[in-house]
Amino acid sequence: MKLDEAYDDNNIFAKILRGDLPSFKVYEDAHTLAFMDIMPQSPGHVLVITKTPATNLLTISAEAARAVMDTTHKIAPSIQKAMQAPGFMLAQLNGSEAGQTVPHLHMHIVPRTGGIDIGFHARDVADMDELKAIGEKIAAQIAADLAD
Ligand code: AMP
Repeated sequence: MKLDEAYDDNNIFAKILRGDLPSFKVYEDAHTLAFMDIMPQSPGHVLVITKTPATNLLTISAEAARAVMDTTHKIAPSIQKAMQAPGFMLAQLNGSEAGQTVPHLHMHIVPRTGGIDIGFHARDVADMDELKAIGEKIAAQIAADLAD
C-alpha cells in the first residue's frame, strides 16, 4: 500500500467500525474505537483506531490524529494495570514497506514484560475465549479508572 493511496472503505477496520465484523471492544468515544488485536504480539495487545476514514499519518487531520493519541494516553495505563505489565510499547505503521497490513490508521498498545520477547507482527491468531476474557478484564479496568 502506497502512502498516498485512496482510502479503501472495505478494509477490515472500516468493517469493524460499521459493525460488519466483530471485535472485542475495550473502549469507544466519538472519535475513536479501541479493541483487542486478534494476532496479539503480547497478551493485552490493543488497537486504537480513528473513526475518520484515513489510511495513515500523512492523510489524517491533526485533530483526528490527536484523538487517537488522546485515547491511547487515556487507556494505556489501565491496560498496563489490567495486564500487570511493567511496561508497554506503542507502534503506528505507515505504508506496507513499514509493515502496515491494514490501511486504516491505528495505534498499537503492546504490554511488555521484562525478559519476554514480543511475538511476530500479525501472525498467530489468538484463542478467542482467551482474547475475550482479556478484553473483558481490560474493558472493566478502563471503565473503573475512568469512573474514578
Ligand atoms: P498494522 O500491520 O500496523 O496495519 O496492524 C494491523 C493489526 O491488525 C495487526 O496487528 C493484526 O494482527 C490486526 N488485525 C487484523 N485483523 C484483525 C481483526 N479482524 N480484528 C482485530 N485485529 C486485527
